[in-house]
Amino acid sequence: MNIHEYQAKELFNAYGIPVPQGAVATSPEEFPAALEKLPQGTIVVKSQIHAGGRGKGTFTDGFKGGVKLVDSREEASDIARKMLGNTLVTEQTGPEGRLVQTVYFTAANDIEKEYYLAIVMDRESASPIVIASTEGGVDIETVAAETPERIINTVIDPTIGLQAYQARKIAFGLGFEGEQVRQFTRLLGNLYRLFWEKDASQMEINPLITTPEGDLVALDAKASFDENALFRQKDVVAFRDLNEEDPKEVEASKYDLNYIALDGNIACMVNGAGLAMATMDIIKHFGGSPANFLDVGGGAEADQVTQAFKIILSDTNVKGILVNIFGGIMKCDTIANGIIEAAKAVDLDRPLVVRLEGTNVEAGKKLLNESGLDIVPADNLAEAAKKIVELVGKA
Ligand code: ADP
Ligand code: MG
Repeated sequence: MNIHEYQAKELFNAYGIPVPQGAVATSPEEFPAALEKLPQGTIVVKSQIHAGGRGKGTFTDGFKGGVKLVDSREEASDIARKMLGNTLVTEQTGPEGRLVQTVYFTAANDIEKEYYLAIVMDRESASPIVIASTEGGVDIETVAAETPERIINTVIDPTIGLQAYQARKIAFGLGFEGEQVRQFTRLLGNLYRLFWEKDASQMEINPLITTPEGDLVALDAKASFDENALFRQKDVVAFRDLNEEDPKEVEASKYDLNYIALDGNIACMVNGAGLAMATMDIIKHFGGSPANFLDVGGGAEADQVTQAFKIILSDTNVKGILVNIFGGIMKCDTIANGIIEAAKAVDLDRPLVVRLEGTNVEAGKKLLNESGLDIVPADNLAEAAKKIVELVGKA
């Protein structure tokens, strides 16, 4: 789960990581009160979306820059008015961009030098790693590709945490000396504590800067959290912004359905994540393209099946549906009833191929046959995939 920059900076504040003073607004009426909270001087106006690369982004109406430095509160209001309600396209948003619904005003800093600092969960070492670089403020992937020697990777043993010698070694690697080493090691220690205590999967500061006075400040903040740990992170969940998520996925999560929207046109409804993956693969194999990943789970109730159908059909890209259920804990006749109920409730207007196998399969097939619904049965996965690809191709 991702959160906004201003929310990540609230966490930074709480963990003693220095950030510029800031205030948010979601409508022009809120601009004066927000700007009132900042010191006089240069102000940075920042679009809040769950994607990076905002500074170099362009709005769909042609306005350039999702992060802007201005010299007065009046200018800040003018710029913020142009950003709010506008759609920002960056390297990370995809061509459709993201609607800006919150702007963040922060005090500007004089920058001596920009650095990159992040902690991410690394799959290979199954540990957190600290990624640090003297090349801050730019795209870290480019640094990794062109000048990998400028990136310092440090694996942290999760059982003992970040060690003082590791933090000092990174500080020296970045070229810090004297008082700055102390500031940096304290900042990194706090960032690690935040990462660990909040079950984060990523904490990124790009850029981390030094000011002409020699102080370290986090100018940007990006944070992501492990969704499997959200049950014990209530304050992180409170940061969730449903505006930034696919409404179909939000709806699915209310019914405990594992649903991920994709950009194809054949919807899949499957039980079990492995079978769902296999189903998507075989659709591809026969020349089709899946519209979603959907695992209704082992113990799905008829009601969940109905909800799943509604979500699938709300996707206007969907031209056909493939149901592939292996009845184990859940019986085929239960599923068949769910499908029939759902098909009636949602006014099914697209081809539906159903493949059932497992416990009570005969009873399930009988129910489908006698339902009077236009359901195309299939006896195995290959046949089912072939049929739905054909039907969608004709539609
Ligand atoms: P993004 O990474 O999405 O483009 P950033 O917050 O990193 O957004 O802002 C882009 C650039 O704007 C930064 O790399 C930095 O050079 C500049 N910037 C951001 N915040 C400040 C600030 N408080 N003071 C001065 N410059 C800033
Ligand atoms: Mg940045």
